[in-house]
Amino acid sequence: MLPRRELFPNVIEMNYQARRRLGCCVYLVGDTKEWLLVDIGYADTTDEIIELIRQMDFPLANCKYLIATHADVDHIQGFKRAKELLPNAESVGHEECLTLLAAGDRVRTYAEVSAQGISIDLPAIKIDRAIADGDVLTVGDFTLETWHTPGHTHSQLAFRMGNLLFSGDNIYRDGCVGHIDAHHGSDIPAFIDSLKRIQASDIEWLLPSHGPSFRKEKGLLQKAIDRLDRYQHMADFGTCAIDWPLLDEWEAEIIKGTLPK
Ligand SMILES: [Zn+2]
Repeated sequence: MLPRRELFPNVIEMNYQARRRLGCCVYLVGDTKEWLLVDIGYADTTDEIIELIRQMDFPLANCKYLIATHADVDHIQGFKRAKELLPNAESVGHEECLTLLAAGDRVRTYAEVSAQGISIDLPAIKIDRAIADGDVLTVGDFTLETWHTPGHTHSQLAFRMGNLLFSGDNIYRDGCVGHIDAHHGSDIPAFIDSLKRIQASDIEWLLPSHGPSFRKEKGLLQKAIDRLDRYQHMADFGTCAIDWPLLDEWEAEIIKGTLPK
């Protein structure tokens, strides 16, 4: 049997487990009797990840849930293959995640970013069931509470287990947040509310969808909240900004007849 490298009791992250970067974070939660996966990543690593799980003696038939934190292709492209290998797993995600994947929406899943020449295969993926804020997923003795944390995308979910939060693309260890992009369905005011919710909670550890797990610090979250707050009023953020105060100032100046000095 391959030794298990738990990050926290009954939590294994597959990049940490493999001791190399495979892609987005893939969390295995539970024990050999019943377990679940949070995301699976790209299809080209799915077989390897599931083989590692098998070598750690987790029976593949005992995977109860395959969770999509949201519909982005780098998190879910391997779902089709994973469902074949994990016959009893029910796939779950936010209602909008189901809709985007059922429709094969290539833009809002980041499969297609034509301006950057990005065009990635998005297989037809059917997520079995929609879950919403407050829904609880149970594997053996463990419970994950669903948090709807929109902002990066409307379908973004996070999952609380005790003092841990599988925090998706809400915030990373360096204080960066998931892409803000109107074409992807990002919403800055909603993003700020999601970060405030995480900040106000008694969660102690954040287990993000990219990069290392880290201790939740109010200051780090506050810096991100303040930055996003400024973005709301900056032209830099184009279609995601809610206003641009310079144009109001300029309007007042032209009405008054103020000239450049
Ligand atoms: Zn992501």
